[in-house]
Amino acid sequence: MPAKVLDGTKIANDIRSEVAAEVKAMTAVGVRPGLAVVLVGHNAASEIYVRGKVKASEEVGIYSEQITPAESATTEELVALIEQLNRRDEVDGILVQLPLPAQVDAKKVLMAVDPAKDVDGFHPVNVGFLSTQREGLVPCTPAGVMEILKRSRIPVAGQEAVVVGRSDIVGKPAAMLLLNANATVTVCHSKTRDLPAVCRRADILVAAIGRPGMITQEFVKRGATVIDVGMNKVTDPQEFKRLFARNAKREESFRTKGSTLVGDVHPEVAEVAGALTPVPGGVGPLTIAMLMYNTVKAAKLRRGSYVPVLTSR
Ligand code: NAP
Repeated sequence: MPAKVLDGTKIANDIRSEVAAEVKAMTAVGVRPGLAVVLVGHNAASEIYVRGKVKASEEVGIYSEQITPAESATTEELVALIEQLNRRDEVDGILVQLPLPAQVDAKKVLMAVDPAKDVDGFHPVNVGFLSTQREGLVPCTPAGVMEILKRSRIPVAGQEAVVVGRSDIVGKPAAMLLLNANATVTVCHSKTRDLPAVCRRADILVAAIGRPGMITQEFVKRGATVIDVGMNKVTDPQEFKRLFARNAKREESFRTKGSTLVGDVHPEVAEVAGALTPVPGGVGPLTIAMLMYNTVKAAKLRRGSYVPVLTSR
């Protein structure tokens, strides 16, 4: 039986509706949550991501502001900008779109964000809160992974979870969230020995690698839940063929557009997994939904009125 498809778009829309209701109630009592997005220079992909974030804010009723310093901005100028945003009461969330230009010390800029407004959850204070199970702001993509599991009623406590990838923005926080939810967690990376065998232990396998279709059937225990965080643009026809041997719809779209979006999990995994997130339409939509959630959470935490409602907190 093919894997159950975990519909990230639907889950993200549910969260966005819940957030919109919260924003409405908060705005009615004079506390409209606000998000400032800092986009430095002109990176085509970043511009698309930022547009999506600003649009999503508008849709849920969050006040949003886009600040666009020039490509030539210095670390000092950006730190000064962040400090200004830190001081503004109507700004609850500050998001610095990455990557920053080469001359900028990105770590210094991210460190300047007030942890209470760090809606990306990247500041070491929030990383510490997550690892010590204190209330804080959790990185959006891994928080979205947990929402998919929870809302799809996939048990986590006591399960073997394997996370492939140990980045600060996905792999590590995903592993920490799974551990906090009482899974037995293994974190893999490029130096892991016999990766397929380690992955086959997983009841829940999270792939956050950045390599199109790397996770094949050989990595997956029959019936496992597979969460595909990967978002890779494939343009090579040979690579496309390796991934989509029998998918007429994809083939047509690839021919027209010259590229397709592929996860880290090979589509053939659907034949062995119990449940699987698609790409697109799986984890991707959750990232923006959780950013909206985090902005509301930041607004409440700062005012001492936050009550956790989502598992990812
Ligand atoms: P990253 O910083 O490049 O980290 C990749 C991780 O994968 C590293 O830990 C690396 O190991 C590991 N890795 C690479 N090749 C491997 C191999 N052959 N075997 C085992 N492990 C390997 O990437 P990231 O930022 O975490 O992103 C991962 C993927 O998620 C990308 O496709 C990205 O586009 C996607 N993503 C999606 C969303 C979303 O909204 N859906 C959000 C963020 C990221 P080492 O540490 O040993 O180098």
